[in-house]
Amino acid sequence: MSRVQMSRRQFLATGGAVACACCACRGVYGAVVAAPATDLQPALVAACGIYCGACPALVASLKAKTHSDLKCLGCWSPKKPPSYAPKCAVRKCAKLKKVQSCGECKSYPCKLLPPLFNDKPKYGLREKYLNAVRDQGLEPWLAGQKKRWTCEKCGKSFGYGDKQCPACGGKVLTDAEEFAEFKQKKT
Ligand code: SF4
Ligand code: SF4
Ligand SMILES: [Zn+2]
Repeated sequence: MSRVQMSRRQFLATGGAVACACCACRGVYGAVVAAPATDLQPALVAACGIYCGACPALVASLKAKTHSDLKCLGCWSPKKPPSYAPKCAVRKCAKLKKVQSCGECKSYPCKLLPPLFNDKPKYGLREKYLNAVRDQGLEPWLAGQKKRWTCEKCGKSFGYGDKQCPACGGKVLTDAEEFAEFKQKKT
């Protein structure tokens, strides 16, 4: 599996069935030693539109030294999905519809989604990102997101909430700036 993203075929092969497979995690962390990040297989798209690849929980998990340090490896991660995964109605629905992103669903936007588009940049940007998945397709959107969350100055990645590049301190487009621009265009 690609380190970057579970492919559509692999997602469908699991039936979107992912659970917190702690036994699998023990496979990685058997002797409580640092696992190579390449074994962690993060899943970068959330059903609700968040780009998990820029989420602080995922970024921290890629640096985890032990199983207990893992916070979340992405919405559809088989190894470490978010703790709220079993209760999330949107994720459950997307799993049934066999889509990784609601932007791929013919019913998008359904009534479950607007309440999630709130005024916090990470959550409000869901709408922009789901629209983009709908309009561009998932893979092109993911490629664009990788670029969007990469510092132009040093080539390292940054994430939601970062006010500058954590690696070089360079100027980056923050989630707040992107959300403000999105809201302005909508009005
Ligand atoms: S906490 Fe949510 S947004 Fe962050 S990586 Fe996990 S599923 Fe994605
Ligand atoms: S019906 Fe709504 S929640 Fe379910 S997958 Fe489609 S857009 Fe997502
Ligand atoms: Zn940088």
